[in-house]
Amino acid sequence: MNWCPRDETAIAEAEVVHIERQGLLYYMKFGNDDNSLEIASTRPELLGACVAIAVHPEDTRYSKRVGTSTIVPVFGQKIPVIADEEVDPTFGTGAVMVCTFGDKMDVKWQKKHGLPVIKEITENGRIDTSDPRFKGLKIEEARRKVVEELKKAGRILREEPVKQNIGTCWRCNTPVEIISRPQWFMKTKQMTDEVTASADQLRWVPPFSKKRLIDWTQSLDWDWVVSRQRIFGTPIPVWYCKKCGETLVADENHLPSDPRRDPPPREKCPKCGSSDLKGDTDVFDTWMDSSISAAVHAGWPSDKALFVKLFPADLQPNGLDIVRTWDYYLLVRSLAIFHKAPYKTLLINGMVRGTDGRMMHKSYGNFVETGEVIKKLGADAFRQWAASGGATGYDIPFRWNEAEHGKKFLTKLWNIARFITQDSTTGANAPKLTQPSTIDRWLLGSLQELITTVTNAFDNFQFNTAIEAVRDFTWHSLADDYLEAVKYRLQPDNDPADSRNARFCLTQSLLVICKLLAPICPHITEAIYQEMQEVRERRSIHSDGWPEPDKSFQDNVQMQEGKLLVEAIATARRKKSEKGLSLKSPIRRVIIRTQPSHLGMFEANQEPILRTIKAESLAVEETPSSEEGTTGLTVEIVP
Ligand SMILES: [Zn+2]
Ligand SMILES: [Zn+2]
Repeated sequence: MNWCPRDETAIAEAEVVHIERQGLLYYMKFGNDDNSLEIASTRPELLGACVAIAVHPEDTRYSKRVGTSTIVPVFGQKIPVIADEEVDPTFGTGAVMVCTFGDKMDVKWQKKHGLPVIKEITENGRIDTSDPRFKGLKIEEARRKVVEELKKAGRILREEPVKQNIGTCWRCNTPVEIISRPQWFMKTKQMTDEVTASADQLRWVPPFSKKRLIDWTQSLDWDWVVSRQRIFGTPIPVWYCKKCGETLVADENHLPSDPRRDPPPREKCPKCGSSDLKGDTDVFDTWMDSSISAAVHAGWPSDKALFVKLFPADLQPNGLDIVRTWDYYLLVRSLAIFHKAPYKTLLINGMVRGTDGRMMHKSYGNFVETGEVIKKLGADAFRQWAASGGATGYDIPFRWNEAEHGKKFLTKLWNIARFITQDSTTGANAPKLTQPSTIDRWLLGSLQELITTVTNAFDNFQFNTAIEAVRDFTWHSLADDYLEAVKYRLQPDNDPADSRNARFCLTQSLLVICKLLAPICPHITEAIYQEMQEVRERRSIHSDGWPEPDKSFQDNVQMQEGKLLVEAIATARRKKSEKGLSLKSPIRRVIIRTQPSHLGMFEANQEPILRTIKAESLAVEETPSSEEGTTGLTVEIVP
């Protein structure tokens, strides 16, 4: 298995990080002068563990050599020349040294051709040999020393720079070695097809993340090594007979058991009767524990009824970086124990990148600490940024201005809420809807559309779509358009029934906005909710129900009319500001031209138009000419 010589533990393939580095390819002369073989390798320090030379069976350069033997330079052992179809004849000289073990290929060839195993590298990454020239040297030192000896003996023909892809330990970056040592494994290799088929049937958000897991399971060469030579971790409840090697596993009713401390399940070895039993000192890979977490959350193994209800989990959310560990180990273990996947939907998020778009890294100086953002902008603004930053599953760079934009929106929302909650009085003036006006119907209709849009977005994990829709409605429909057009209706001199309608629309909108926003901005929405008269008896926005669209407000014709009215008012206000007039300054006249079918609506809405624009009179005229199907709306103001 893979071994980190620095941490002195076995590691799984998922813990090996592959890096590119510049190395040297040494061309070495094997055998004697009249019968030599040229071999290229980046790891001459492994010559001591060299057990064969392999060539491709169809490589005519070596056809006569197959079946003969040669001598390893410097170390002097006699080794066979073998043929194997997996030798790449284009690499180096086409003849490759098989060392136990330089890489995974060596492991395969050693088994396939029944070659001996020479343990040249110790568990702490030193050379294990009786040869005093190399004994106890570290791997890098040994390489230099072996090259020096090869040169002395005239056995280095040339050196060539080469790009190497080497496996390193995820924890300490030390190049990983392959060593042979007893370990515990889970037989995952034989489950590749089952894992692939299961992963293929699950819902992956975004869909491309599925490929990450399938590619990974299919790329694995070895079973999952689950034992670790570490101090902390779940003990492996196993004892060994020191005399005959028999394995004794703890009884299930004695678990958890720590064999480093607890007595073995039986006093004597059941096979040979020896009482010399020794507990396993290794611990499990932490993923061995984590891989049953979905089951444990669902009450397994004690609560069977709960397990039936909660397993598999509805949602498994995690980052793209741990699909090959977290998602893979959960899946493979659940398939082995329960014969089904532990989750139904996988929600895979991208990574937050640094301010310069690269991965955040201390040495790049491009990282921002979460505490700093929360302190400056608050958790809700930060969460809002994360939700709005990009499509689900893709990396997003952290940008201060985008997070600050989120904060600005929340300030706006807070101000709107203060206005509405302070105004929405109780008693005779309490919000109540009776005969809503055109603009009221438009707002309430838009609010139902918002509920539908945001609900669909959340159902599909499109958080950026959800937050954008809420922001757009709040900022534009509610604040810019509706609030400005109904301020006069909240004055004490207005018809009480009309005021109550406006208050109803405002409070309903605010309540729905808060509910839709609550999953993303839980704090500000709760604070606003608690200020609302309408919900005072209720406990929390987070335990209140999710809003449902009210279809009675979704009348297309009325929505169109309302939209046109809002557009006309907005245009008039814009024209005022273009003429350098403040929004409050009175004007003489406003002229609205449109298609005949809309004239009645504008006439019926004379009051909101005049009072919002602060105009003395309104003229509604038929538009001279406009395209079929358009509203033909034009607005003119006379100061
Ligand atoms: Zn390590
Ligand atoms: Zn025994």
